[in-house]
Amino acid sequence: MNAFERNEKALDILSKGKFLQAQQLFFENVRMAPSHETYNNLGWYLFTEGLECKNGKVRNAEKLGTYYLQKAESIRHTSVNLNNIAYVMEIQRNLAYCQTGVENRDLCRAAYEYTEKALQLKYSNEAEYNRLRFLYLCDSRSTEVLSGLEKLSGQFDEPDCIEFLLNVLCIHARLHECLERLAQYRDKLDELCLMSLYCICGEYEKGAGLCGRIYEKYTLRHVDIAMLADCLIRSGQSEKALTLKQAWQEDAAPETKKAAQAFCREADRIFDSAAYRAELIQGYRFRPPVIPLCGYFGCKRHGTPAVEEH
Ligand SMILES: [Zn+2]
Repeated sequence: MNAFERNEKALDILSKGKFLQAQQLFFENVRMAPSHETYNNLGWYLFTEGLECKNGKVRNAEKLGTYYLQKAESIRHTSVNLNNIAYVMEIQRNLAYCQTGVENRDLCRAAYEYTEKALQLKYSNEAEYNRLRFLYLCDSRSTEVLSGLEKLSGQFDEPDCIEFLLNVLCIHARLHECLERLAQYRDKLDELCLMSLYCICGEYEKGAGLCGRIYEKYTLRHVDIAMLADCLIRSGQSEKALTLKQAWQEDAAPETKKAAQAFCREADRIFDSAAYRAELIQGYRFRPPVIPLCGYFGCKRHGTPAVEEH
């Protein structure tokens, strides 16, 4: 079996959920045929799936995975590998953000530079979306993000991309344009996304119209509740707002009584105080999700090449 065949077999086995066998083949490939491609594939496997140890336990192996991804990078540059390293940074960024609530702009900037290099080697709409997203996380008011999204959305009208564009239009106070495009793409967007954009753009009645379906479907953050309450109250539907608040408060009987009481107090505050709602809504910051890319060379399912030629 040569390196390509072993890689093909590893990916085939992996797609059937046989992790240990796939892991052994990726390691074997690195031993028998060390190269940019085999290092990258082992690194991506370890980073995303972990390392199955002799006792059968699967351990987080992000560190070892990153080591192999960087080893691949030291040999040559490919879009697959550079995008993978940007993804490693995204995981680090996200972890830091969850722990501290503060964005690590250095990491965003570094990830942005990796995606930019990757795009110069090979373009894809998904990678371009991720590049603009990292730039947005560095600077949400960047005009390059806006112009980039306007261009990208013409050829890539996936919901993530459209939602990103509409929110960025709002950030640049281009509300009229946001509403025009909202009408155009309405069917692609979920109710929560639509309601928040209607609220930001001041179309309160339209936002309020979605309240039934939003109540049925979603568990909301405080800022979402504030937006929905704002839509209802500002469009003169105070009674409906009260009914909704009571329904939520009745639903709130989770793990502890204390948590339920805290939620009820928070709901009272949101519905009673326009100033508090404004404070929550002003603190709202749209966070676009990353689009995961296939990180393996020679993946038939995603059509990545066995070797990336430049
Ligand atoms: Zn794949």
